[in-house]
Amino acid sequence: MKLLLLSLIPVFLLLSPPYFQGKKTASTSLFFTNTIPYPEEMLLGIIFFLLLAAFLTYFYIAIYKHKVANKHIINSLDSPVYLINNQGIIIRLLNTPAKELNIQGNKDIKNTDIRTLIIHEKEYDECITALQKVLKNGQPENLKLEIRKIDGEEIKISARLVYYNKKYALAYVRNLSDLERAQMRSEQSRFFLESILDNLPIATMVKDIKDHGKYIVWNKKAGEIVNVDPQKIIGKYEKDFPARSEFIRQTEQNVIQTGKPYSFIHTVKNSNGQEVVLSIHKALVSYNNGQERWLVSSSIDITEIERQREQIERMNREYQFVIKAIGLIPWTWDLKKEKIVCNREYFTPKSKAATGIIFETSKDFFSQVLPEHRERIRKAFDDLANDRIPTLDEEYQILYQGDDQPSWAETFAIVSKRDENGKPAKFVGATRLIDERKKMEEELLSAKKKAEEANHLKSAFLANMSHEIRTPLNAIVGFSSLLANSVESEENREYINIIESNNELLLHLINDILDISKIESGTLEFFYGNMDVNGSLNELCSSAQLRSGKEVKIYLEPALPECLIYTEKNRLLQVLGNYLSNALKYTSQGSIAIGYYPPQGDKLRFFVRDTGCGIPPEYTDKIFGRFVKVDSFKQGSGLGLAICAMIAEKMEGKVGVVSQVGKGSEFWFEIPYRPVDTLAFYAPDKPTANENKPPFPSGNKSKLLIAEDNPSNYKLFETILRKEYLLYHAWNGEEAVQLFRKYSPDLILMDIKMPGMDGYQATAEIRKISSRVPIVAITAFACETDKEHIRHNGFTDYLPKPLNALSLKNKIQEVLEKYPNRRS
Ligand code: ADP
Repeated sequence: MKLLLLSLIPVFLLLSPPYFQGKKTASTSLFFTNTIPYPEEMLLGIIFFLLLAAFLTYFYIAIYKHKVANKHIINSLDSPVYLINNQGIIIRLLNTPAKELNIQGNKDIKNTDIRTLIIHEKEYDECITALQKVLKNGQPENLKLEIRKIDGEEIKISARLVYYNKKYALAYVRNLSDLERAQMRSEQSRFFLESILDNLPIATMVKDIKDHGKYIVWNKKAGEIVNVDPQKIIGKYEKDFPARSEFIRQTEQNVIQTGKPYSFIHTVKNSNGQEVVLSIHKALVSYNNGQERWLVSSSIDITEIERQREQIERMNREYQFVIKAIGLIPWTWDLKKEKIVCNREYFTPKSKAATGIIFETSKDFFSQVLPEHRERIRKAFDDLANDRIPTLDEEYQILYQGDDQPSWAETFAIVSKRDENGKPAKFVGATRLIDERKKMEEELLSAKKKAEEANHLKSAFLANMSHEIRTPLNAIVGFSSLLANSVESEENREYINIIESNNELLLHLINDILDISKIESGTLEFFYGNMDVNGSLNELCSSAQLRSGKEVKIYLEPALPECLIYTEKNRLLQVLGNYLSNALKYTSQGSIAIGYYPPQGDKLRFFVRDTGCGIPPEYTDKIFGRFVKVDSFKQGSGLGLAICAMIAEKMEGKVGVVSQVGKGSEFWFEIPYRPVDTLAFYAPDKPTANENKPPFPSGNKSKLLIAEDNPSNYKLFETILRKEYLLYHAWNGEEAVQLFRKYSPDLILMDIKMPGMDGYQATAEIRKISSRVPIVAITAFACETDKEHIRHNGFTDYLPKPLNALSLKNKIQEVLEKYPNRRS
């Protein structure tokens, strides 16, 4: 507008001729003096005015253009520019700032005092001072302020105050919070990238190709691998590390030249001199059309993996060797495809089918298994496939394709892979041919059989021998006891006593040998039944009391008032009897207790405790071994305790000893405790017909039939019994049956071992004729089992050889009284 007015001045001058034509005005014009000019002068004046007008027009146009340009610039800024007066009042906003930089929002900021915007009083003061400075000396001022926008948001701003005119300044405002945020974001992303790089298990290095291979990235892992602090490398150049491998240098050159990435495995040494195996990848990265180029190297430390790989390879080689050495064929079986893959080259030198890797279907495999094994093997694999068994181990015969002979094979298998439902999908296994082993097994079996037969023969021989020894011993023992009664002289009686005691020793020894041989050959029989423990121990105790001297007191120590059990009574008593005999042998004064402890759970422990010489500690562990004796000069074979231990084992029990030298010993025998109900134990047997029969008439001499093949033994019977009984002698079984028919004896004494028909057969024959006549077996088999055996074969009772006159007479008396109705 101003420019328009100015341009009108010359026009106005031209359009005012009266004024310029000879009239001198009293007024003073802006450009002229108040003299009236001449026409030439007037022309000059006009020209002058015209020039001046042109100049001014040009000048104002230039200023106008400049102002318009400024306005455009200000408008193009997205940060606000305010016009502020010297009092700090915002006159107006000169442009349209971006939304987030807009302080006033939709409100008009006109006439707003900056005091209302600036949060801190101090900053406001600084701002006013700066404003006045700018207006005074025209120099711009920069400030940082914290303001509260109209919408309440507090932000940091930077304000640049620029001189506008004497009264006003321009304030160019930038949101510092945004800047700071942007800066933070860039710092964050830098930190983020650095953290990623430092936390990568991959060593990463970046070199700036354009800057002579300057290292710009060298992450933590890269530092660890070569054992150097990354900060000592970043910023350095390739030339600072002359020890670099020529191979690496060459590789990098190739990658840079060709631009193609390259991967390789390379071993380097770290600063400690340790070798590190690296899997390295190098690639060229470029930017800005190749103006900037970097070489990126990434390396993974595979030292451990390499070590494990080598180890696995070595183990594989070893396993293959072992597999080959023990003749195993490894195979896999895919259950879905029904395919078996195995390498038969491994093991079957004899098999024509051994032609390397063989693929076959499971159907082929089963068809080759011999029919007698097929179903079992098929079931075993089926069980494995259905998780009914964890592993398979089967032996079978198979006729491999191409072979003319079937082979024995042993196969092991497990499930090696399962499907998504957890069902077996693959088996892995191994098979080996075991023809050799099978042959050996057969040989061993036949050798075992032979050994068992030999052992049997040995036992039979021993049993026979002991019988053969007992038979003459019978006569010796019997006659020597008779002699003892008939001999008058003291000296001779002493001799006979010596003979008698040696007889006993001999008998004991024979019994021990017999027992051992029977246990070893497994022919010692065990008959379980009910037992009244207190009653049996009482009998054992009483018989021991008869044998002991006055200095040793023998007593019973039962733990329960009644103890009824199910056990092998005879063997139990045999063990306790042996303990008791030993206790008597090794105790010269004091006492011997026999008894048992209260049952502990399912265990019942018997003991024989003495106050004898005791056993040294070094012997207690081995005393139950064969032939072990503390004092080898003492009588005894050293077999008794060994027999006890063997019996205990057979009865699922245990034996042991606690002993102190000079104080005594306690030998114990623990057996499974199987209590028996009292009612069941004492349930009465059915009364027999005999019970109502009249007693045996004592006036008549009873008739005894004696079946005995040995003349001296018969002689002994005769000597003992002839005064009281009527005797009939049979030399063998047949004769015994005949004489029984002929004389109907009241009792038969039957030797077991006789030529021709033996005692068992003869008894069987007699039992066909009479079920009641008492038949007492007389035998050299001294074991309790023989007694049972005899009872089961029709005999009424039993009397062991060698015979003792008193016990023979007592037994006959007892049996005759018990079976009075003997002749029917
Ligand atoms: P033996 O027939 O010699 O007695 P045993 O096997 O019965 O054979 O006993 C082996 C050894 O154990 C005996 O020689 C003896 O030294 C020792 N022994 C056994 N019982 C006792 C005991 N009650 N007191 C001391 N020593 C004993």
